Amino acid sequence: MGKPIYKHQAIGHSIADMAINIQAARLLTWQSAVLHDSGQQNSTYAAMAKAFAADMAMKVCIDAVQVFGGYGYISEYPVEKLMRDVKVSQIYEGTSQIQRNIIVRELFH
Ligand SMILES: Cc1cc2nc3c(=O)[nH]c(=O)nc-3n(C[C@H](O)[C@H](O)[C@H](O)COP(=O)(O)OP(=O)(O)OC[C@H]3O[C@@H](n4cnc5c(N)ncnc54)[C@H](O)[C@@H]3O)c2cc1C
Repeated sequence: MGKPIYKHQAIGHSIADMAINIQAARLLTWQSAVLHDSGQQNSTYAAMAKAFAADMAMKVCIDAVQVFGGYGYISEYPVEKLMRDVKVSQIYEGTSQIQRNIIVRELFH
């Protein structure tokens, strides 16, 4: 349609949301790592980082497929593989539900 897809405002907003959420996950992860490195208890922040990053990554990949349109669904482009691969991050090393169990347990400890 005569311009890069990101210049359509709705698509641009979707990509901006991806960037916001990726950076938020990065900061949560770093906060958890800093606590660990300084010898402090970090299980709440580690669980927050794991749950947020995994759920965020799943949503970002689903939205990325949408941005690519039909090309997002076919295997000629890597984005559909990223979407399939990222699902497991909500499952292994403690599912997103179990991370939330840890967070609520620590909040009311
Ligand atoms: C590719 C891959 C690699 C893996 N690698 C390893 C590994 O190297 N080492 C290892 O030890 N394990 C490994 N696992 C296992 C992984 O850690 C488990 O699959 C994961 O912990 C979930 O356990 P489960 O499959 O028994 O699901 P279940 O515990 O049966 O859970 C099923 C669903 O119920 C939900 N659920 C369960 N209990 C609760 C609860 N109390 N409250 C709310 N929701 C709940 C879960 O969130 C999930 O959605 C791997 C799994 C995969 C897919």
